Amino acid sequence: MDCNVFPVLKYEEPLYRPPCEAGSLILQVTLGCPHNQCLFCGMYKMKKYRVRDPEEVKADLRKARLAYRHVESIFLADGNTVAMNSHKLEEIIRYARRLFPEARRISSYGGARFLRGKSPEALKRLREAGLDVIYLGLESGDDEILRRMRKGVDSTGMIEAARKVREAGITLSVYVLLGLGGEDRWKEHAENTARVLNRMEPDYIRPRTLYLMPGIPLYEEARRGLFREASGETVMRELRLMLERLEVEAWFLCDHVSNYLPLYGKLPEDREKMLEMVDFALAHREEYLAPRHLTHL
Ligand code: SF4
Repeated sequence: MDCNVFPVLKYEEPLYRPPCEAGSLILQVTLGCPHNQCLFCGMYKMKKYRVRDPEEVKADLRKARLAYRHVESIFLADGNTVAMNSHKLEEIIRYARRLFPEARRISSYGGARFLRGKSPEALKRLREAGLDVIYLGLESGDDEILRRMRKGVDSTGMIEAARKVREAGITLSVYVLLGLGGEDRWKEHAENTARVLNRMEPDYIRPRTLYLMPGIPLYEEARRGLFREASGETVMRELRLMLERLEVEAWFLCDHVSNYLPLYGKLPEDREKMLEMVDFALAHREEYLAPRHLTHL
């Protein structure tokens, strides 16, 4: 999270964006998340979801235009911005494109629960307006885990949403949450996530690792003994199994601070190299897989 990249805009915090959007103009089009029920997520628990008035958003864009000579890319926050009315979103994206013709990318988070409800035409219009990338949280391809974590959509819905995004010509970047099956369901998590990713055919796969901290509902479940957090070693075995089973052509980027290893590669050609790194970490687990590896967060 870095709210000071474009300090001329006033943000309603907390504000999140993907790590790869660190240099982007962050534009809050919506506030919070319209789902806000996932047990592993505490991002927007203190915010009530609402769509900002498009005129306010346009005023933000004008303010940013006056202040910044060059904007490389624009990220539309908060969580699940694509859930809002497509016509209004389209209008904002067109306006942003007009004011920032130099921007190489406009992107947004988009949950499968909401993308499924969009017509193919609406998604194509968003693409034509200038939406380039959607970051979609699959988290797990295992239906039991998705149900238990209250993701609000099953693996069939994830595949359907991904197909719609790809058919609209929008780049699809998918998040996977390592450790979400805990110690008890890591194998199913790895196998089913690979199986569903193979059907989703994303352009990018971006694993993150579950990190339990106070304020996250799953933290309370773990404290009450209802969820057994996966060890670093288990997370590595899960990652290894998933990598072995993936049959997609996609970038595989562990670009989040929560991950044990900074794996970067293109599948399938870099699979062996990444598997070797996983094996190296497993062989040197004291150094690479320490349980307190996230104390810097
Ligand atoms: S993981 Fe995504 S969909 Fe779930 S509550 Fe958090 S922001 Fe909303």
